Amino acid sequence: MRTRIPPPLSPATRVTSCLAAPAAGSKTSVRPQPHHHQPKGQEQACAQAPLQEAIAAASAQLSGAPRSPPLAAVVAPGAVSALPWQARAQVSFTFDDGYSSVAERAAPILAARGFRGTAYVNTGAVGKPSHLTWKQIDSLQQQQGWEIGSHTVSHPAISQLNARQLAAELKQSQRTLEEHGVHATTFAAPYGDYDSRALAQAAKFYDAFRMFDDAPQNVWPFQAMKVQVRTVQAGVTPADVAQWLDEAIANKRWLVLALHDIVPTDKAQDWAWGDSQLAAIADEVARRGLPVVTLAEVFSHTRPPVLIEDFSGGLGAFRTDAPKAVRVKADNAGAKPEPRHAVAMQAGAKNVHLFSPQFEVTAGDTWVLESYVDNQALKRGGLGIYVDEYDAQGRWCSGQYLAEIPAGDVQRPRLAYTPSSPEVQRAAVQWIMPSTAEGVGRVDSVRFYKADR
Ligand SMILES: [Zn+2]
Repeated sequence: MRTRIPPPLSPATRVTSCLAAPAAGSKTSVRPQPHHHQPKGQEQACAQAPLQEAIAAASAQLSGAPRSPPLAAVVAPGAVSALPWQARAQVSFTFDDGYSSVAERAAPILAARGFRGTAYVNTGAVGKPSHLTWKQIDSLQQQQGWEIGSHTVSHPAISQLNARQLAAELKQSQRTLEEHGVHATTFAAPYGDYDSRALAQAAKFYDAFRMFDDAPQNVWPFQAMKVQVRTVQAGVTPADVAQWLDEAIANKRWLVLALHDIVPTDKAQDWAWGDSQLAAIADEVARRGLPVVTLAEVFSHTRPPVLIEDFSGGLGAFRTDAPKAVRVKADNAGAKPEPRHAVAMQAGAKNVHLFSPQFEVTAGDTWVLESYVDNQALKRGGLGIYVDEYDAQGRWCSGQYLAEIPAGDVQRPRLAYTPSSPEVQRAAVQWIMPSTAEGVGRVDSVRFYKADR
C-alpha cells in the first residue's frame, strides 16, 4: 500500500517551505530535529533548529527521559481541553470461554437493558456440552449485535507455546471463526497469560489484545495491545462493580469487565457468576447512563485516516536520515494489515530517524497517532516517538516528545496529539532510535487520524 497523505500544500506554502524532503541517502538533511528544551526567554517562534544542536537535544531528551513512561500518562499538552468524545466513561461486558450461558442467560439480561457484549470463544470448544453452538454464535452476532472475538483454539497458556503452536492458536481460531461468518478483530488471552512474542504474533491478526490484569481502567486513546480488565468472579459483588463504574465516570475511563459462565445465583462459584448479580450490575450501568461498547467498536476507526502506511511498497512517502540503518524488511515482523513488511531500525553510533510525511493540523483538535512497534530485538534503550510542528510557511515551530517504547516490548501505541499553539499548521512524526540503544526495533502499520470531538 502506498502512503496516503493529505492534499498537496498550497503553492505559496510550498515556495517558502524550509522543509524540502531530503533526497534518499542525502547526508545534508535540513529537516528540523527534536528540539525540546528551549530555555525560557529564548524561544524563537518557528525557527529552524540547526541539525547538530537538534541531534544533541534529541539525545539529551532521550537519555533524560524516563525509561518506560506509562503511555497513558504521556498526553500532549493541551490535550485535556480537547478530549474527543471517545475519552469518556464507558463499559464493556466480555464473556470468556464460550459458555452456552452467554447466549441463554447473559445476552437476554443485557438485551433487556439495551446492551450488548463480546463473547471470546475458544473455537475448539464450540458445540461441546455447556458451550455455545455455531448457531448460537451466529445469532449473537447477526441478530443481537454482539461482538465475537477469539480466545484461541484450545485455551492454552500462550506464553508456553512454541512459535508454530502459537501461530496456529492465534491464526486458526480466527480462520475457523471466519469460516462460520464471524470476523474476529479482537483477541482475549486465556488466563491473561502473554509475553512479547505472543503480542507480536497477535498483532498480525488482531486489532486489540485483551489482558486479564485486574488493573484499573483504560485511558483514552487506549493501548490496543494492552487492554486491561476487571475480572468479575467469586468474591466480587455488584457493589464492587458499581464502585468501579463510579471510578470510570470520575476519571473518564473505559472499564472492561471480564466474566465467564453465568449461572443461577445460588450456584455461583469461582468463575461462574450469578444471573441476578449480572442483572444487578447491568442495572447499575443503566442507572448511570453509561455507554456500553464492544472492543471492536472502540478500536474501529470512525474517521478516515489522514495518513496510513503499511510499508508493503517500501518507505513510500516516509524518509530516513540513515538509509543503511533504517530499512523496510520483508521478514514477517510487522503487524496487521500487512505483517510481512516492517521498518527495521538498527541502533548505531548516532541517532537514526524514520520521518513521516507532514499532515495538516488545526489548533484545538486532537489526533491519534497510531503505529506498531516491536522491540523484541532491541536489547537496550528505547524507541522514541516525537512530533515535529510547522507553521503555515513550513517553518519548524516546536515539537512534542510523546513516548518511548522500551527494549523488549511490543506495543501498538496510540498517542494523543494536540498542536502546541495556533501557529502550528502541519505536523509530522519521527521515530527515533537513539545511539544509546542496542539492537533493532521495528515500526509498522502507521495510522494517523483525527479524533472525533
Ligand atoms: Zn478463558
